[in-house]
Amino acid sequence: MLTVVLIGTGGSEGVPVPGCSCPACNEARHYRFLRRSTASLLITNYSMNMLVDMSLDASYRVEELYVGAVLVTHWHHDHIAGLYKFRWSETPIDLYAPRGSADPEIVHFPRSLRIHFVKPFEELYVGDFKVTTLKLNHTVETLGYLVELGRNTVAVLFDTKGLPSETLEFLKKRRVSLALVDATYKPGYEGEKHNNVDEAVEIGKDIGAEEVVLTHISHHNLPYSRLVKYVRERWRNVYVSYDGMIVNLI
Ligand SMILES: [Zn+2]
Ligand SMILES: [Zn+2]
Ligand SMILES: [Zn+2]
Repeated sequence: MLTVVLIGTGGSEGVPVPGCSCPACNEARHYRFLRRSTASLLITNYSMNMLVDMSLDASYRVEELYVGAVLVTHWHHDHIAGLYKFRWSETPIDLYAPRGSADPEIVHFPRSLRIHFVKPFEELYVGDFKVTTLKLNHTVETLGYLVELGRNTVAVLFDTKGLPSETLEFLKKRRVSLALVDATYKPGYEGEKHNNVDEAVEIGKDIGAEEVVLTHISHHNLPYSRLVKYVRERWRNVYVSYDGMIVNLI
């Protein structure tokens, strides 16, 4: 069995944003269980605990686990701030990351982190997981990851706006059980470096994913309750994430 825990499902500012009184922030302030911390997730087979990105919040959520590896999508602060804590781990952690705009403090003083710089379309073996790095479209060099364990495959696709054609063609040829896709903005919002909801679903459908989970959701998106309604009325097998959501692949 492979379990995915979406620890943080927000954009770089999280939800609610301090001082903001937009509908998404107000909803999350009122219903505290709808708060979103910044993007991180845990993939585990109950033998190897592997994170994709490590936000500061995530570093506190997983401090009791032995984390064997972290796959870094890119070095924007919302995705890596927890590494400042986890580099003090008493056990070594393999860190896979693109070289582009790597955090100099982490690179020069990695302590327990064993840093491996990787490029798109490399195959890695991390515990029992087979991992393929993917190319994404973002402001800085950013990798997606296809994680395979037995018949199950999970595609992690944040942060990105659309997909580069190489990645689209690669994923079309693979069975994708679950796609976790950047859906930063509300429907109709034109962002340069992140998807809106419709663009995110289109990616999931284009690659033939059996289930699509929308994540990296910012306060520029609809409030959770309206977003769920919007998605439910249009698509099957598409889900809106929330912090702490668990998806099991059997
Ligand atoms: Zn981000
Ligand atoms: Zn807001
Ligand atoms: Zn980013």
